[in-house]
Amino acid sequence: MSSSMLRFNRLTKSKRAFMMSLDNSILSLFEITDANISIDSISRIKSTDNRHIHLISASLTYNRSRCLHCRLPTLIKNGYRLSKIRLPTINGGRYQLNLRRQRFYCKSCHHTQSATTTIVSNNQTFSRSLRHMVFQLARESLPATTIAKICGISPSSVLRLIEKEVHLPHALKELPLHLCFDEFRSTDHLMSFNCCDAISHRRVALLHTRTKKEIINHFINHYSLIQRQKVATVVIDMNAEYASFIKQIFPNSEIIIDRFMLCN
Ligand SMILES: [Zn+2]
Repeated sequence: MSSSMLRFNRLTKSKRAFMMSLDNSILSLFEITDANISIDSISRIKSTDNRHIHLISASLTYNRSRCLHCRLPTLIKNGYRLSKIRLPTINGGRYQLNLRRQRFYCKSCHHTQSATTTIVSNNQTFSRSLRHMVFQLARESLPATTIAKICGISPSSVLRLIEKEVHLPHALKELPLHLCFDEFRSTDHLMSFNCCDAISHRRVALLHTRTKKEIINHFINHYSLIQRQKVATVVIDMNAEYASFIKQIFPNSEIIIDRFMLCN
């Protein structure tokens, strides 16, 4: 039995209840709803870049008898393995969960396995809630450096998360460096939106609507932030209202107004 567990057992019933509700409040603050996780201690350490990190030490354990490999009921508990998990920032503070995961050993096939949890994928260091925070900010078309500062992680981690962990097919799509936005009257006298490569005039998008919401959603849902950040210029008609939201889609682009533009 761990020393923290021994100390916990010596407390009176009311103090135990108070501490458990305090632990639950801290866990729910980070959206950790896994009932198999319990807090051992909370401390503060200094990181290599001299910033404070709030350290939440916790344990993850439960009973499992059947082996994931051979399916036989021959698993026994066999120590713990430490995982260091980055949590979302709160008020600019950095938080890390040092999670002791229960290890299991199979007496039949001799495989070992760790307890799993919904708060983080296997072999990942960023919690699901932190990843969610990164993706939410990316959808707002914020630059990676800004997202990194808000989330307390490096810009390269932000880019890696967006590019490799999303696994969306659109992440592979390429956008031309120079785009044209245009509109034309299509069927039933409705105005459609047309986007093409400003150099080759190859069509990039054709939408049977030209509302701001539809256009923004189309590009955000079909292209990764990395791809959209590469777009250098967007040529628009001088009467178009696109200028007001182009930066939301292509944050690094320059808007060029050309009243003689031809997109077809
Ligand atoms: Zn086994």
